[in-house]
Amino acid sequence: MPELPEVETIARDLNQFLRGKVVQNVNVLHTKPLSNCNESEFIQFCQQEKFKNITRAGKYLFFEFESEKKMILHLRMTGKFQFFSPYDPEVNFEKHQRLLFLLKNQEALAFHDVRIFGTVSIYYPHTNILEYKKIGPEPFSSELNPAILKEQAKNRKVPIKNLLLDQKFIAGIGNIYACEILHAIGIHPAKPSSSLNLEEWQKVLTKTREILKEAIRARGTTINDYRGLAEKKGSYQKHLKVYNQENQSCPTCKTTKIIRIKQAQRSTFFCPACQPE
Ligand SMILES: [Zn+2]
Repeated sequence: MPELPEVETIARDLNQFLRGKVVQNVNVLHTKPLSNCNESEFIQFCQQEKFKNITRAGKYLFFEFESEKKMILHLRMTGKFQFFSPYDPEVNFEKHQRLLFLLKNQEALAFHDVRIFGTVSIYYPHTNILEYKKIGPEPFSSELNPAILKEQAKNRKVPIKNLLLDQKFIAGIGNIYACEILHAIGIHPAKPSSSLNLEEWQKVLTKTREILKEAIRARGTTINDYRGLAEKKGSYQKHLKVYNQENQSCPTCKTTKIIRIKQAQRSTFFCPACQPE
């Protein structure tokens, strides 16, 4: 699933392609992604809307129109966008395209989703955006600091790895970056969250920002499905130290092999020497 750096990359790409462009029509090829409207409501909502800005919050993409309407999309497992200029249905149609936004000058944006876990919701101006309730503070927010994290975690007995995946705790971190952050600061993934001291929370925050920033610079991590627009892959996979590196030598201590355990049904990769219990 795309995490913060991948979704940020997609938002930036989308902005470049879509800003100022007008939706002439939408083909709803599958209704499953529509989470708070039906097909005709969705089409009516989008028609003649001009894209103003596309941003990211947590792992959500926020499409803002000039009219101040918003369309909010979550890519989940396999969602991605394809931009066609021009769009030729004979050549560009693919069976996993679920929503097709037809723009002027025969351009088009397709939302492509093999497994259809991706979701789209629409909001007219001055309505309550439910997605905001599902996302906690952004890691880059200047209002976030180690003391806040420590306070929020003080009654949380869950392993630190699981807390980092909690979108209401910090927004945007997923399995790949949670593993990398904990390895970078030498904390065991099963350490109870409530037991981290202030200095450790300082390290969590600093490394989270550093790693996410570097990953954005690399356009994210491509292991299986993730692509930016124009099928551009990310390159942060070259910098991964533990994620997906089971049985490889730890690049930090160079003496111990990376191991994999299961936490909350997800794989965790870590170095038992660099991240002792
Ligand atoms: Zn190591």
